[in-house]
Amino acid sequence: AKRLFTFRRGAADRTADASEALGLKGSNLALLASLDLPVPPGFTISTSAWREAATSGALPAPLRNELLASIEWLEGVTGRIFDGAERPLLLAVRTSARSVMPGLADTVLDVGLNNRTVERLARELGDLGFAFRSYRRFIESYCSLVHSLDPGEFDDVADAERTRAGWEGIEPRSLVDWRALISAYLSFVEDELGAAMPQTPLEQLYHVVEASFASWRTPVARAFRMVHGVAENAGLAVTVHAMIFNERGENSGTGRAISRDLKSGQAVLTGEFSLGGRGTGEVIGQRAEPLDLATVARDGLAFPADLEALANHVRRVEAHMGDVCEIDFMVGDGELFLLQSRIAKRNVAEGIRVAVEMVRENLITEEDALLRIEPSSLDQLLHPTIERGEEILVIGRGMPASPGAASGQIVFTSEQAIALAAEGRKSILVRNETLPEDVHGMHVTEGVLTVRGGTTSHAAVVARGIGKPCVTGAGLLRVNAEAGTLVALGRVLHAGDWLTIDGSTGDVISGSPKLRRPSLTGDFATLMEYADRARRMRVRTNAETPAEARAARAFGAEGIGLCRTEHMFFEGERISMMREMILARDEAGRRAALDRLLPIQRSDFVELFEIMAGLPVTIRLLDPPLHEFLPKGEQEIAETAVMLGISVAVVTERIEALQEFNPMLGHRGCRLAISHPEIVEMQARAIFEAAIEAGEKKGKAVVPEIMVPLVGLRKELDFVKARVDEVAELVAAERGQSFTYLVGTMIELPRAIVRADTIAEVADFFSFGTNDLTQTVYGISRDDAANFLSTYERQGIIERDPFQSLDIDGVGELIALGVEKARRTRPDISLGVCGEHGGDPASIAFFEQTGLDYVSCSPYRVPIARLAAAQAAI
Ligand code: PEP
Ligand code: MG
Repeated sequence: AKRLFTFRRGAADRTADASEALGLKGSNLALLASLDLPVPPGFTISTSAWREAATSGALPAPLRNELLASIEWLEGVTGRIFDGAERPLLLAVRTSARSVMPGLADTVLDVGLNNRTVERLARELGDLGFAFRSYRRFIESYCSLVHSLDPGEFDDVADAERTRAGWEGIEPRSLVDWRALISAYLSFVEDELGAAMPQTPLEQLYHVVEASFASWRTPVARAFRMVHGVAENAGLAVTVHAMIFNERGENSGTGRAISRDLKSGQAVLTGEFSLGGRGTGEVIGQRAEPLDLATVARDGLAFPADLEALANHVRRVEAHMGDVCEIDFMVGDGELFLLQSRIAKRNVAEGIRVAVEMVRENLITEEDALLRIEPSSLDQLLHPTIERGEEILVIGRGMPASPGAASGQIVFTSEQAIALAAEGRKSILVRNETLPEDVHGMHVTEGVLTVRGGTTSHAAVVARGIGKPCVTGAGLLRVNAEAGTLVALGRVLHAGDWLTIDGSTGDVISGSPKLRRPSLTGDFATLMEYADRARRMRVRTNAETPAEARAARAFGAEGIGLCRTEHMFFEGERISMMREMILARDEAGRRAALDRLLPIQRSDFVELFEIMAGLPVTIRLLDPPLHEFLPKGEQEIAETAVMLGISVAVVTERIEALQEFNPMLGHRGCRLAISHPEIVEMQARAIFEAAIEAGEKKGKAVVPEIMVPLVGLRKELDFVKARVDEVAELVAAERGQSFTYLVGTMIELPRAIVRADTIAEVADFFSFGTNDLTQTVYGISRDDAANFLSTYERQGIIERDPFQSLDIDGVGELIALGVEKARRTRPDISLGVCGEHGGDPASIAFFEQTGLDYVSCSPYRVPIARLAAAQAAI
C-alpha cells in the first residue's frame, strides 16, 4: 500500500477518508489542492507509515524509497533540486494528527539548507541575510527537535562569535562573518553531540521525519490523549511541502482570512495580514501592526498579492465546507499560497447571525442552522455576562445554579435585601442556604449565593424560576450572618461590600466588574422560528408568579407545565393565614383560614390564566410538608403566637409534632391531600372559580389542569380526584355553568411507574417529576446530594450529576416503561416532564425519543428547550 500521498494545485493523490490517513493538516492540504486552490506542492507521509516506523524504530527502507521518489516528483513540480547547484529545493515539515494535539513536534522549516545550498539561495534571491538567517534558524530547530538541544544555548555561541569577529547587533552583515558564525554553530553542535549535523538534505529529512513521528510519544501528547480519549494508535501523519519565502520583506507575509464578517454575517473578506515577517536584521522581532484585510479591500490599500483572488479562494472554501471558514495563507514574492482552512470560531451571537444569514442566502437549510447552535450556549444571550477582558478577583467558586452574572452589595437576610431594594440599591443575598420564606428577598435581590446546597436546592430552583443568577454550594466560603461577615480565601467582606456572582460559571467575585446586558436580536427570534417549525414536542414553563409567566411567554412558552402552588403561600400575609391553617386546633379552624386564602389563590390563578391566554395551565396541589411553612427561631415563633392569639407553648408543640426526619419522604404530596381534604377543596375551588372568571373575561373557556403530586397508589389519585370532582360539581351548580377540566398526576415515585397502566386509567395526563423521581430511584436526597456527587464525578463513578442531566440508563429506562404502560391503557394520555431535566438539552433528546408530548422548564430555559427539542426532532 502507498505510504505517501502527493498534492499540488489541482491534484491530490488522496482525498477520500483522508483525515484518518493524513491527519488534519495533510487532509486539509489535499482538499484545498483538489479544489484547485494554490497550495505549496508537497506530500503527506501517512499514519500507516507512522505505524510501520513505530514498530521498527527507524524509517523502514520501503518508506525511504517512497520518500526519495516523492522528492524527485517534487523537484519536477517545483523546478528546484534538493541539494541542487542552483535553485535549491527547501522543505517545511509539519506533524499532522487527526485532532489538534499539544506535545507534537513543531514545524521544521528550510530542511535542505547546508553549507552549499545556503550560498546558492543567497545568490538566487540576492539576499544574503535572508538565506543565512534561515539556515541559522534551521540549525537551531533541527537540533532542538532531533537532539533536544536547547535553542537558547546557541546564544552563547553567537555572543562569542560577535566578540571575536567584531560585528554588532543580532546578526552579521558580511558573507565572511556569516560563514564564521555558521561554522561556530556547527562545531558547537558537533562538540555537544559527538557527531556532526548531517549536511545531506535527504539525511536531514529522514531525521526530522523520525523525530516528528517520535513526538507522538511525548508525555504531554500522551497525557492529552488520555484526557481526551484519543486512541494511542490513532497515529500521526507528517506533511512535507516546498518552502514559501513568506518572510522576505515587502512582497511577502503571513495572514489569516475569514470568509465573512462575523459581526454582520455578510460574505465579505475579513482577517489580517502581517507584512514581511522576520524582515531585515534591524527589525527582527519588531513586527509591524497587522493589516486589517477588510480595510485593505475597502480603501484599496497596497497588498503584495492578488486580494481579489484571495477573496475568491476563501469563498470557494466556504461553499465547500458549507460554513464560515478561516484560512491561513502566505505570500511569498507576491505569490499567494493557502496553508490550512478550518471552520471559523465565533461566539454565540456571531454564530446565530452567520447561520441565519446563510439560510437567507440559501446556502444552508434551517435544519443546518439549528444544528450549528449549541442549545445551552443561548444562555449567554439571555443573561448578563461579565465583560471579557476585565480583570476580576475570583474569591470563591460554587455550583452554577442559575445563569447570569449579577453585582450588588452583600446582604445576609431577606429583610436587608428588601430594605436595600426600597432605597433602589442593588444587593446580593448571601446565605448558608435559603428557606421558603426567603423567596420574597430573592425577588428583590440581584442574585443569590449560598454556601450549601446543589443545583436542585431551594435557592437554585427558585432562582432559576425567577431568572435570578444563583451560585450554590460555595463550600469554602464562611458566612456569619450575625457578625455580618463573609470570609473567602482569608479575605473578610462585610455587609454592604460589593460582590459579583456568575451563575453561569459558579464564580464568586469581589467587587463589581463591568457586566454586558443581554440583547435578544432579530436573529435570535428568527432562529427560534426555525426551531418551532422543526420540533415536535411542545415547550411549557414552570411558573407561579405573573412575572415568571410573562417572562416565559416572552421566551415562547406554550403554557404552564407546573405551577407550584406552595410558592404562592409565602408572600406577605399569606404566610400567616397558612400558619393559622396549620396551627388550627380542628378542621373548622383550618377551614376558616382556608376560606381567607381562597380569594387570594383565585385571583392569582385568574392572572395566570389571563397571561397564558388560552394556553394550557397545569396547577399542582400543595406538595411540601407543612412544617416548611412554620416559623423558625424564638422571635418568629413568639410573633406568630401573638398574631394568632395562641400561646408560644402551643406553637412550639405543633412545630415539634410536625417535625420530620426525612421530609422528602414524609407527610407531603397527595398524602397531605388525603389527611387534609379541605386543602384540596380550597385549591380546587380557587382553580375552578378562577377558570370561570378568566374565561368570562376573555370570552373563551379556560380548561384548567389540576395535578396531584407524589402519587404512588392508584387509590391515592382516586381519593383526591373524587374530592376535586365533587368541588367541580358544586361550583358548576352554584354558577349554573358547566366546564371542563383535567385531573392528572405527577409521576415521581418508582411505584407509580410500575403501576402506570392502572394509574393512567384515572389520570388525564402524567407529568414526570424527574427531580423526585431521580431522588427516589437513586435513594439520594436532592438537598444533600451535592456533598458527595462531586466526588462521584471526580472518581468517574458517575459522568454527570443525575439531578442536572437525566440518568438515561436508570431513571430514563423507568420513564420509558411508564410511558409504555400508560399508553397501553390510555393511548391518548398527555405526557410531559416538569423536573429540572425539562430544560436540559441531553435529557430533552431522550424525551423526544421516548415520545413525550411536552417538556416544562423554568422561563429562562424555554428558548434552550425549544432549540434542543428541534435538534432532537431533526
Ligand atoms: C419534580 O419532583 O421533578 C418536580 C417537578 O417537583 P418538585 O421539584 O417541586 O418536587
Ligand atoms: Mg416533586
